[in-house]
Amino acid sequence: MDKIDIKSLSKRELEGLLAGLGGERYRSGQVCRWLYGRGARSFDEMTDLNARLREKLKAKCRITHVSLLDSKRSHADGTTKYLFKLEDSSSIETVFIPEKSRNTICLSSQVGCKFGCLFCASAPFGFVRNLKVSEMLDEVLFVKAHNPGSRISNIVFMGIGEPFDNYDNVMNAIRALNDKDGFDIGARKITVSTCGIIPAMERFAKEGLQVELSVSLHSADNATRSKIVPVNKKYPLSDLLEACREYVEATNRIITFEYVLIDGVNASEEDAHKLAKLLKGMKCKVNVIAYNQIKAGDYSAPSVEKTALFMRALKGRRIKAMLRKSRGEDIDAGCGQLRISKL
Ligand code: SAH
Repeated sequence: MDKIDIKSLSKRELEGLLAGLGGERYRSGQVCRWLYGRGARSFDEMTDLNARLREKLKAKCRITHVSLLDSKRSHADGTTKYLFKLEDSSSIETVFIPEKSRNTICLSSQVGCKFGCLFCASAPFGFVRNLKVSEMLDEVLFVKAHNPGSRISNIVFMGIGEPFDNYDNVMNAIRALNDKDGFDIGARKITVSTCGIIPAMERFAKEGLQVELSVSLHSADNATRSKIVPVNKKYPLSDLLEACREYVEATNRIITFEYVLIDGVNASEEDAHKLAKLLKGMKCKVNVIAYNQIKAGDYSAPSVEKTALFMRALKGRRIKAMLRKSRGEDIDAGCGQLRISKL
């Protein structure tokens, strides 16, 4: 019989398992602190559990981990990309972004992606499978172990994959990340980013979590958005914006819109005016990011001057907008780029 992947269990399932093995209820907190707080790689390390319980756990469960295929650290800003190999030899990427006031990990949620955004490094390679809860948590555990001086304060699901297409596993990973006995990362410091899967957004609004929601918008024009974010054909802009307004209403939280500036596609002053009109009156902010070039000759980012005009046009219309610095450009930190260099 296959052993149970212990890090993929929810806390309740873990409690059930421990009860079945004759362990007390509070043991689940202990086991979580070993697995997530201290990154234990074996049950033998869990010295405050009695030997009999440890042996039973060992016989029934296994502790997964990811293995490193490659990594690159930026000399400019310390951003580090990791390429990991999973048990079935699939590969995923994780990025560690150290800053003065916070340390962020950017997580992958799937091996590949189904949604085929035109500017995305992972799109041409298609979808392989969902990540398990344990695999997402293992991304965090590896980065934590390799950066022991840096407390991980923020998590963003902005790596490879669409988190809302792996909904249940992502929610369970979030619960472990947020749990006091788990990683103890504040819900408000965890961000889920979606290309706009409306039914999942509606479900997410009802979770009662304080987790941040980002929506990858990239255009305020329906035809343009259908071209660069093809899922827009299924969930068009007007429906998406309505779902966003309902989310804000239901949760009393704000939405962050991601907007990747691509020269000649969505980066003119007129595009900015359209965006301002679309978002008018909504509790939101816009993160503007210069397009990170995947391969020469396809899209490119607009000039610094054009970018400044775009930002000014948005702010002039009272839209809260931030131009995000691209991190780790010297190491191709755009997500998925290390992976494609090996595929
Ligand atoms: N599928 C989710 C999460 C993964 S993409 C989503 O679409 O939001 C995370 C963010 O990176 C998205 O906002 C995405 O549009 C952006 N992104 C993807 N490729 C990029 C590139 N080449 N340059 C800049 N940002 C990019």
